[in-house]
Amino acid sequence: MTLRALANTLLSSLFEPPCAACAQVLPHPLDGAVCEHCWASIRRGVALNEHLHGRHAVDWVGAVDLYEGRLRDIIHALKYERRRSLARPLGTLMRTSGAQLLAGAEVVVPVPLHPRREQERGFNQADDLARQLGLPVVPLLRRIRHTTSQIELPADARNQNVRDAFDLARIPDPGSRLPTVIVLVDDVSTTGATLEACAKVLKRSGVKEVRALTAARVVTGRR
Ligand SMILES: [Zn+2]
Repeated sequence: MTLRALANTLLSSLFEPPCAACAQVLPHPLDGAVCEHCWASIRRGVALNEHLHGRHAVDWVGAVDLYEGRLRDIIHALKYERRRSLARPLGTLMRTSGAQLLAGAEVVVPVPLHPRREQERGFNQADDLARQLGLPVVPLLRRIRHTTSQIELPADARNQNVRDAFDLARIPDPGSRLPTVIVLVDDVSTTGATLEACAKVLKRSGVKEVRALTAARVVTGRR
């Protein structure tokens, strides 16, 4: 038995740390806050990659899977239980399932939180996920209005909620150019209204193509 295996066994039997998703005792706590069964249960959602063919400001959306089951539990633990270590494996899943969407993009842009909310939480989960995607992370956007969480609102109120909520983080220097192809990154897309609001700002500023990659999506088909 290796030292690491021994340490895992000792930690598991002494402290019985629960998996952040299924709450079963972690057999290998040194390997992360979520057990391998939970990770294995998340199917790789390549089917959730979808071109929108110019119907929206967002040109192409992708997600690992639907916002349900263990994936939902893991995102919940990352965001509300502040288990930031989960961003690395979750972001790695996004990188795998969103490989086509990331190919050819120049930068990734995390969907910003309002400064007040980021201060409360201590971090922006979208930023943590964006750092796992293998492209430069550029905070091009800022949230200029504090908004109610989209997930708490009825569908018809969500567009209104995020209207004018975002702006360019800074005016680009004269002569400098914005990236041509950008991937917006967030943890969950509920109706797509937040991503759409961000994409509109980017397109108005001259970005040619805006793709969006999230860990999970609430609805399929229509965004
Ligand atoms: Zn588990």
